[in-house]
Amino acid sequence: MADTYDVVIIGGGPGGYNCAIRAGQLGLKVACIESRGKLGGTCLNVGCIPSKALLHASHLFHAAQHDFAALGIKTGKVELDLAQMMAQKSDAVEGLTKGVEFLLKKNKAEYIKGRGKILGPGKVEVALADGGTRVLETKNIVIATGSEPATLPGIEIDEERIVSNVGALSLSAVPKRLVLIGAGVIGLEMGSVWARLGSDVTVVEYLDRILPPADAEVAKEAERTFKKQGLTFKLGTKVTGIEKQKTKLKVSMEPAKGGETETVDADIVIVAIGRKPYTEGLGLENVGGRTDKRGVIEVTDHFRVAPGVWAVGDCIPGPMLAHKAEDDGTAVAELIAGKAGHVNYDLVPSVVYTNPEIAWVGKNEEELKAAGIEYVKGKFPFMANSRARTNHETTGFVKILAEKGTDRILGAHMIGVGVGEMIAEVVVAMEFGAASEDIARTSHAHPTLSEAVRQAAMGVEGWTMQM
Ligand SMILES: Cc1cc2nc3c(=O)[nH]c(=O)nc-3n(C[C@H](O)[C@H](O)[C@H](O)COP(=O)(O)OP(=O)(O)OC[C@H]3O[C@@H](n4cnc5c(N)ncnc54)[C@H](O)[C@@H]3O)c2cc1C
Repeated sequence: MADTYDVVIIGGGPGGYNCAIRAGQLGLKVACIESRGKLGGTCLNVGCIPSKALLHASHLFHAAQHDFAALGIKTGKVELDLAQMMAQKSDAVEGLTKGVEFLLKKNKAEYIKGRGKILGPGKVEVALADGGTRVLETKNIVIATGSEPATLPGIEIDEERIVSNVGALSLSAVPKRLVLIGAGVIGLEMGSVWARLGSDVTVVEYLDRILPPADAEVAKEAERTFKKQGLTFKLGTKVTGIEKQKTKLKVSMEPAKGGETETVDADIVIVAIGRKPYTEGLGLENVGGRTDKRGVIEVTDHFRVAPGVWAVGDCIPGPMLAHKAEDDGTAVAELIAGKAGHVNYDLVPSVVYTNPEIAWVGKNEEELKAAGIEYVKGKFPFMANSRARTNHETTGFVKILAEKGTDRILGAHMIGVGVGEMIAEVVVAMEFGAASEDIARTSHAHPTLSEAVRQAAMGVEGWTMQM
């Protein structure tokens, strides 16, 4: 006889596991199926968490070599123990994936190890990891199958010399020459790690700018800073092929608008040109589910694929971010339990965890101009912030954009040490429909980096005081 559930979730990443936890909290009988053998999805296993573990460790390694002396700290010879750096990364991943397993148990959500396939409305078959199959009957199916790396035609990722995020997070030696295809968030984070550890990094990007979704002024400042850190950029350039030779890779590229081909030698190539939804073998067609031409599952507002079938996270429209997947999953559990569930995609913050960090929320200047919305901006450089100066970390600025006439905040764009944390203040303000003056008149502790947010907000009405 089949087991009967209120909710069966396919995929145990941030979308799936948060949906399972919330459904359990709300008293629903829930199971979460995951095929990779560990919970946490891309985020915990091969994404957010391992990349941040390596960014943190490589930053300290670089700082010990280059910045500590100026602070009066003599470290002697600083040496890299890459195996230990990778081991501490794996420890962080292991601890957190176990933590998710504990949270599922605590909330009475069943964790089923195996591969889920939708057989029809209310019916999911699991090819169990330990062998055999199980059929689950359920009132609701939640698809949370996430995404996988996009690839370039003619370039095969082998995860040894031509790698995606998976291989890039586990290299066993520091490559001397690294070519990175794609100057987006994932690419720049990976490039930063390996450049800090000693690689000669060349970033090839099809567009004529880095970080396409970021505000152009922020992206320009970031490019300038990364160049100073030793990254080489080939913008407006497309990779046309990679020849695998015995001792090296020969990466061919040409100007995106056409022109002469050139080749760059590399030991490792990281392909970071974006991600695509993953729905292979899911049986979406068995419930009349559809995908667009990019493979994104079509959902109505409120995450519905078909009656009793829902989808969340990277496999549906919206930003491919862990906290967006988490919010989707939470909302769907609440909708299934008969509550209201909604996610405001306009206020999902983005953070790039490079040094300095880059963060934004809401609309950028280019988007506001294109939409014909009149705005006023306030900008404050970290060079004028006392804490940043004390810490010798003065790169970057905060920019607040507010609607002309109403002063309602429309966006915030930041580059600087710690902005990944500071953006949260503006997200909360925007969720409450705040004006820039609300931030400008809110007390901020001194000396903190977040005072730069306040000073930028003051700048919207032209009364920045500390510059
Ligand atoms: C290198 C890198 C760094 C990143 N850094 C950040 C960051 O700092 N911040 C951030 O917000 N986002 C980051 N992301 C993005 C983030 O990882 C994703 O947005 C997030 O993981 C999406 O969650 P999800 O639950 O939709 O899908 P996933 O995390 O992809 O989880 C889906 C899970 O479903 C499983 N699955 C698929 N099909 C089946 C099936 N049929 N049966 C059973 N299981 C199945 C998969 O094995 C997978 O574990 C990063 C991504 C990468 C690659």
